[in-house]
Amino acid sequence: MNTLFSSIIALFSVASESPSLLKAKHHALSRQMPMMYLILLANTWALAATHLSIAPAWLTIAVPAVFTLICAIRINHWLRSRGEPSPEAALRELNRTNRLAFVIPIVFTTWSFLLYPYGNAYSQSHIAFYMAITVIACIFCLMHLRSAAFAVTAIVNGAFVAFFMSTGQPTFIAIAINIVLVCIAMLTILVINHQTFARMIDAQDQTLALSNENLRLANLDSLTDLPNRRAFFAQLDEALESARANNTRLAVGVIDLDGFKPVNDLYGHSTGDRLLVAVGKRLASLFGGDDMFLSRLGGDEFAFLMSNAPDDQAVVARGDEICAALHAQFELPDATVLISGSVGISIFPELASTAEQLFDNADYALYHGKRAKRGSSTLFTATHHAQIHRDARIEQTLRQASLDNELSVVFQPIVDMRTGLPLGFEALARWNSPVLGRVSPAHFIPVAERAGIIGALSRALLKKALSAASAWPDDLRLSFNLSAHDLNAADSTIAVMSIIQKSGFDAARIDLEITETAFAHDFEQVRSSTDMLRLMGCGISLDDFGTGYSSLTQLHALPLTKIKIDRSFVTRLHQRPASRKIVRSLLALGKDMGLDCVIEGIESEEEKRALDELGGAIAQGHYYSAAVPASEVPGYLASVRPVTSLASAG
Ligand code: C2E
Ligand code: CA
Ligand code: CA
Repeated sequence: MNTLFSSIIALFSVASESPSLLKAKHHALSRQMPMMYLILLANTWALAATHLSIAPAWLTIAVPAVFTLICAIRINHWLRSRGEPSPEAALRELNRTNRLAFVIPIVFTTWSFLLYPYGNAYSQSHIAFYMAITVIACIFCLMHLRSAAFAVTAIVNGAFVAFFMSTGQPTFIAIAINIVLVCIAMLTILVINHQTFARMIDAQDQTLALSNENLRLANLDSLTDLPNRRAFFAQLDEALESARANNTRLAVGVIDLDGFKPVNDLYGHSTGDRLLVAVGKRLASLFGGDDMFLSRLGGDEFAFLMSNAPDDQAVVARGDEICAALHAQFELPDATVLISGSVGISIFPELASTAEQLFDNADYALYHGKRAKRGSSTLFTATHHAQIHRDARIEQTLRQASLDNELSVVFQPIVDMRTGLPLGFEALARWNSPVLGRVSPAHFIPVAERAGIIGALSRALLKKALSAASAWPDDLRLSFNLSAHDLNAADSTIAVMSIIQKSGFDAARIDLEITETAFAHDFEQVRSSTDMLRLMGCGISLDDFGTGYSSLTQLHALPLTKIKIDRSFVTRLHQRPASRKIVRSLLALGKDMGLDCVIEGIESEEEKRALDELGGAIAQGHYYSAAVPASEVPGYLASVRPVTSLASAG
């Protein structure tokens, strides 16, 4: 009894159903209910018509007219409620239908019984037919609202059976029994269908939830839980669109960590991952509000968007805040690490009109900012814009240049600080282009590297340098700068080796200079390349030492013979205690590693004296001599060491 009662309650409680089931039911009903009312009206008017001549007009015309009005209102209501109602609105609508499922059958049944006394056997049979066929139609149309279908069936059939049984007419009694049986069968089917329907909606819900989850995961960086690269570019497109529409400024920032790689190499990947998570958290704490969007692009690169960006200075100040936050210590389980971060920023609508340009500009500002001043933020400016144009022109011209004719090599002495006598020369590239005039190697070498044509340049320059150096006295060494690309592939390294071999110049008199950027990408390849060169007898110098972020482990793994302390630490050394400290520790580090140290870029007497005090031994710089053309080398040698050069000349 209890279970029967609770199943009846369950039948009628649409409220406990899931929001999407409610909406699906509403959707189905909004299509079927107008049809139900039309059938109801058609059947009603058909019955009224057969009773028109026998029953009073209020029953055959007035009442059906009122019914028509009510039905029309309901049809109109259902037609208008099509679309996407909220689950609450759908629930309200279903409850109203449930209530009407009691009222409407009572009204219509009462009306049909009122007609009964007026007719003959034919018209009375029509009433039985009307009630039976209409209730079947209603069950069909109310299929998605079990409670309403049951209510209509119970009321109409209850009254039908009671009424026609009471007439004692065998035909009517048979019809009544038939109708009850058919309705029971139909309601059973309805219950089964309803279960299938509910399960289908449930499955749809789950699929939707799953695909939403997939979508969320596809846009999320799994390590830091920040939006990923894909989400960033989608958001960039959107933000740009709205900045354009609302005439607002949009800032794009790219954040790159300095010193992440050594942490990764030294402490392992899991510590590296933990550091990235901590960086993500720290950055996220700086980014509040709707206008800020932070994401991890991959590796140690993050990016942000700032909608409604304030003026340039304020944006750069925000960038500097980010850098400052990254510079504070990170306490990880296995280590306390200190890194820093650089930020490149570009702002719409200045100097960029597309999302791609905006991002590339920020990236460019980052790349250039990093070279000038790591650990701070750099705004993409008109100067950068001009540089991009200049680089493009350089690249175009360089691709068409006759390298043998236009390139030349000059030589800067490397000097023993105690005696002032040269130990060798560093070969430095010069390009005199018929189109562009003289172009600094600081400009065209990076362009050639990015354009992937540095190999040809290196080979042409090396041949020239070796041929000039062949004329020097035997005790002088030649330093030659190699680029990352010369070491990142075995065949380009072999090309370098074969040029040295063919030149006949003693490999043991050569120092090949490499920078730390060379092994940022493929350390193993660089190691095997330098091993091969070292095996041949060449020395390997680490250029611009102190500016990179390689780990000591990496430096130890390379067969280095010299390090060259970068010019930036030497400039005004005598006035800068911090530089003095750095040079002192770099010299000590070189000594510990058993390597000679060459100090670059000495320009003044004061700098030289300060370096003497620190124990510097080998140096290079304008104080001694700028780079000179090959033809001036004998004259230079004669001026500084007349005896040796005369001896060799003779
Ligand atoms: P680097 O290898 O660090 O070369 C030293 C640069 O500092 C040279 O500039 C040199 O002229 C300059 N320099 C030397 N002493 C002083 C000084 O006392 N004061 C000042 N202010 N500057 C000094 P350069 O010749 O313009 O070369 C710039 C850079 O271009 C080089 O830096 C090197 O990275 C690259 N480079 C030059 N030649 C070649 C080459 O043949 N191959 C490759 N791959 N790179 C080259
Ligand atoms: Ca160099
Ligand atoms: Ca250097």
